[in-house]
Amino acid sequence: MKLKIKDKFNQELPTDPILENSRRQVAKACFSYVTPKQTAKPEVLHVSPEMLKNLGLSKTDAKSDDFLKVFTGNKVLENTTPYAMCYGGHQFGNWAGQLGDGRAINLCEVEHKNKNWALQLKGAGETPYSRTADGLAVLRSSIREYLCSEAMFHLGVPTTRALSLVLSGDEVMRDVMYDGNPAYEKGAIVCRTAESFLRFGNYQIFASRQDDENLKKLVDYTIKHHFSHLGAPSKDTYIAFFKEVSKRTLQMIIEWQRVGFVHGVMNTDNMSILGLTIDYGPYGWLEGYDYGWTPNTTDRQHKRYRYGNQPNIGLWNLLQLANAIYPLIEEAEPLEAILNQYKTDFESQNLQMMKAKIGLYEEVDNDEDFIKNLEENLQLVETDMTIFFRNLSDFKDEETGFQVLKDAFYDFDNMPDEVKKEWEFWFLNYEVRLQQEYTSPTERKQKMNTVNPKYVLRNYMAQLAIDDANKGNYKLIDELFQMLKKPYNEQPEYEKWFEKRPEWARHKVGCSMLSCSS
Ligand code: AMP
Ligand code: MG
Repeated sequence: MKLKIKDKFNQELPTDPILENSRRQVAKACFSYVTPKQTAKPEVLHVSPEMLKNLGLSKTDAKSDDFLKVFTGNKVLENTTPYAMCYGGHQFGNWAGQLGDGRAINLCEVEHKNKNWALQLKGAGETPYSRTADGLAVLRSSIREYLCSEAMFHLGVPTTRALSLVLSGDEVMRDVMYDGNPAYEKGAIVCRTAESFLRFGNYQIFASRQDDENLKKLVDYTIKHHFSHLGAPSKDTYIAFFKEVSKRTLQMIIEWQRVGFVHGVMNTDNMSILGLTIDYGPYGWLEGYDYGWTPNTTDRQHKRYRYGNQPNIGLWNLLQLANAIYPLIEEAEPLEAILNQYKTDFESQNLQMMKAKIGLYEEVDNDEDFIKNLEENLQLVETDMTIFFRNLSDFKDEETGFQVLKDAFYDFDNMPDEVKKEWEFWFLNYEVRLQQEYTSPTERKQKMNTVNPKYVLRNYMAQLAIDDANKGNYKLIDELFQMLKKPYNEQPEYEKWFEKRPEWARHKVGCSMLSCSS
């Protein structure tokens, strides 16, 4: 196995001088050296062929003993020094102090085809940042991260990726619903990859400690390696940097809204500086279209991270990042202007995105109201988001509207008359509005099908794969992985996955209810 290793993060940034792997506060350093834990009986369950290729590895490499050892943490690659990053964060709106890679260990950075890939093992044992936890991950949450991060990539959503999913062979104790019923589960490790795993929290931790010197080092490093087009560090460059982070964050969230992804834990330590979806925990996919939905039971009371609130939270998190880098700029106004721009850009980009979802491309007055009306209708009775938008591409006229869309409604036969009327009114307006478009129905259908996926990783689908895997059957992991590579294609062989959530999954743990326990 030959990887072109080009470490930068642990070569150029301040290092924690203490080598002992004990839980503690780490000041004036971006990371601490750590060695992954040896595992009992490692076994590779799945490897992403696309990621292998991105790293310059072959399928034969993936079957090698070296691959097994390295990506289960049992062997450290030559000339590499694994490390855990130091970061802080706001959790559910409150400053939580130092967090850090509590159960993620960075192996190295690889360069291939002019791209930088940081390789990171999630669940490979404790680090100085493990606080009260064990540094491990269980199979269920590892399957969810592995499948979803690759699925998001194929959906066109900026995301971290995953190279491999392995069993550690160790048992891990977890209390899934935090209700005093802990049990042993299979331990697993995902090797995640990204250009960089830097988060808002990496900058915040220095700011919170008034350590401007190291804050500057880290921001300069970030610009040099990941935003080099912005030029040499200066006050203007820092402002341009914040502007780009803001743009990328918004773009990512617009894509989440488009496909119905709810992150679940948008704490600032889970916000990538590159605008990538990162840290797949208690995330979920909208089944019924519902602005108020969150999959995360830990957030059940306030629903801070509900679907409809994700764009606002993106802005709130950016404000925290602005506060963190302020000492380098010492001027609030340009930062405020960027935050205000986020709001304006959100309005226009969200409108464009929603218009594309319903096949409208011309500029017409009142489209905002028309879309608002649609969003209200979608929440009148339980309506499946994915099926609704996918089938909408077959819409012809008001008269046949329900024929085309009835599968999207959970209980079409008992739809109240007032709701029916609202829909008929919207269908009529849609029919009229479509007449102002120049695209032919065939072309419109084609275009709509490139933004409205047919297949997403519905919450119960991942759970079925998890239930099988816990019994030692890994076939469904591969089936879902294959299907989710082409989410916009019809793929008739997978038609059974183009269905509303079955009733048994409505209140099942893991399907609609998830916790941060992983
Ligand atoms: P999360 O909510 O998953 O983003 O995690 C928040 C913080 O808790 C991060 O610093 C994680 O590294 C840490 N953490 C989560 N689970 C574990 C675990 N099992 N062992 C150690 N640290 C953990
Ligand atoms: Mg996290």
